[in-house]
Formats: sequence, structure tokens, C-alpha cells
Amino acid sequence: MLHKRELPASVFEDLNKVYQVKLKLLYWLLRAPPAGQVTKEDIETLYGNKSKLLGWFGIRRLGKPDKRTQFGQALDALANKARLVPVEAEQVAAAIEHDAGFHQNWHEPGFELKFPGGFTGWLEPVKAVAEPFYDWLASEKGFAKDVFGLTGDDMTRSKIMQAYRPQSLGICGYCDGPLGEIGTKADANDCEHFFPKSKWPHLAIHPANLFASCKGCNETWKLDKTPMGNADEAAIRGTYHPSLITGASLISVAAKQSLKHPMRVSIEIRDTAVPERAQTLVNTLDLEARWSNDVNEKMDGRGVSVFVSKAFQDRFRGQTPDEAEIGELLEDSIIWARTNVGIEERSIRQAAALQYQKDCHLAQIIQELL
Ligand SMILES: [Zn+2]
Repeated sequence: MLHKRELPASVFEDLNKVYQVKLKLLYWLLRAPPAGQVTKEDIETLYGNKSKLLGWFGIRRLGKPDKRTQFGQALDALANKARLVPVEAEQVAAAIEHDAGFHQNWHEPGFELKFPGGFTGWLEPVKAVAEPFYDWLASEKGFAKDVFGLTGDDMTRSKIMQAYRPQSLGICGYCDGPLGEIGTKADANDCEHFFPKSKWPHLAIHPANLFASCKGCNETWKLDKTPMGNADEAAIRGTYHPSLITGASLISVAAKQSLKHPMRVSIEIRDTAVPERAQTLVNTLDLEARWSNDVNEKMDGRGVSVFVSKAFQDRFRGQTPDEAEIGELLEDSIIWARTNVGIEERSIRQAAALQYQKDCHLAQIIQELL
């Protein structure tokens, strides 16, 4: 939510092709449900009888009429419900269609998500059809290139996470911390659904809804902390989004003396334009606490000069630097940290910590450099 993240266009388009297959299935079940069980012929009619998708949907995923798979049963259940209350089913389809364009309409005044909204009775049956698509994405095989007409490689979740690596520069787009090396324990090999799939299953493989994040963010991001609440207008306005509105250039970050420990700092994150956005960011990711801990840990026992460069310390070792000189060098470090936001991990909090030290602890820094 802090740094801009978006899938490279080719990956976005390929994932969107798969997503459109899923949407087509949902719209059909809701708007033109078959008279009985979903059959192979129905799928043929839906996707065209020469489509390789027929084989993909075939017996393995749907099962036989008398021995349905879970997915096959889910298709039948949604179709049944749609047959019973066709008017409402059409409204649900329209809501899903509306939501599917969220990335194009995010900045429209009054924009909000429509599903599940007033259609909570449809959440479970829609989820049963929509969520397995994410499970297939997450599986090793994912979606085969030739079946889904993809221009790149087969589409898997790990491919998507890898596609984010070059633009990430090793930095988590959510918290500004390190992303972790691929293959290590701290690797961000899992993905964040900006709109969690348990509440918005129709967006589970939407190409503007999947992002890489560090492990810390992954674990902090829980459903009860979803940044957009029910995704109504106020909530959408009150949150940052990794590709649609990012926070790094909008927030102000200040380090202040901790009330509990005079030798520690507490980080405060504000957004003067829309205070709720910063509040949402902080609440969702526990960011002020994580950043405060991080800064304090770094300073612990080593004093404030730990943030200034080695060259800075070398220059003054054994000399008596004057305040103006130190102030100027600190200012340079602050400028460096600010110009490296999004390029170097932890730059935002580092700039804030340096500013605090410059404003309040110049004398102590000078002591440490002696
Ligand atoms: Zn993170």
C-alpha cells in the first residue's frame, strides 16, 4: 500500500484471460442457469466446442452426473439457486460485473464494491464456484498456457510473485521493510489478496487483486483488519491500494520521544489530506508499532548515531565537530533517505528517525562521535 506495485502488462493480461474464463462461468450460472445439472455440452456451448477448456473443465473437475466432484456440485448449487430466484441472480451477476472493473473505476466518485453487499446469502454459493480458481492458481500446475491461450508461460501463483520481484527492489510494498530472499524462510512467496477471497471470492484471481508482500505483513493482514471494511464508498476512499493509490508520497512520518521510555521513539504516520487512509494503513499492518520497534531495536545500546553513515562517523572520530557541521551532515542523510524511498528498505522510518535526532539529540550525537 506504500509503494506502487503492479503486474507487468504481459502477466496482467495473461492472468486476466484466466479471470475472464471464471467470470464467464459465474455470469452464465447466474444469468442463464441450465435446466438441470451442468453438463459437458453446457460447457461446450459456453466456451465453444473446439475450446481446449472443455477438456480442462471435463470429468476431472466436474465429475460424472452421478458422481460429482465438489466443484461440480458447487456449479449445480449455484445454478439451482439462480433458477429459483432469477431476478436476484441477475442482480448478483450485475454486482460481480461491476466489481470486476474496480481497478478501472476506483477513482470514480462514489465508487464502492457491490458484492456481497446486500447479497450475503449468495456469498457461500458464489465462493464455492469462484474460490477453487485460486486454489488451481496456487497449485504447482496452475493454468496451462495452451488451454487458456496465454502468451507467456503457464500461469501459477509463484510466477505472479516472481513477476513482482524486479520492481520490488527487495522492498515490501506494504511496509517498506525487506521482502526477504527467494527460497529463504523470510521469502515473500505468498501473496496478499487486497480484497480477501473469503469476502470477495469473485476477485480471488483478479489481476489487480494479487500482490507480493513480506512475511510480517502477510501475517498481520487478517480478515478482521481488511483495509476497506465492507468496501463501501467511505472505506474505499479511506485506504491506499498498491497500484491505484499508494501511500509513500502521501503520508508524513514523524519520530517522537516515546512517552513510556524517554530513550526510545514512537513513530507517527499521518495523511493530512485524508486522515482515515493513514489510520487504515496503521491499523491494518500495525505499522506504527512495527516501525517504532524497528527503529528502537536498531538504536538499542548503540545510540542514535547508528543511523548515520560510516563515513560520517569516520570523519569526526577523534575530533570535536561543531553542531552546525553535524546538523548539515544529518540533513544530507535525511535527504538521502528521502530520495531513496522505495529504492532502499526502511528509508521512510529512517528519514523520520534522523529528523528527530537532528531536532532533539544533536548534543548526544556529538558525544557519541567523540
Ligand atoms: Zn511488509
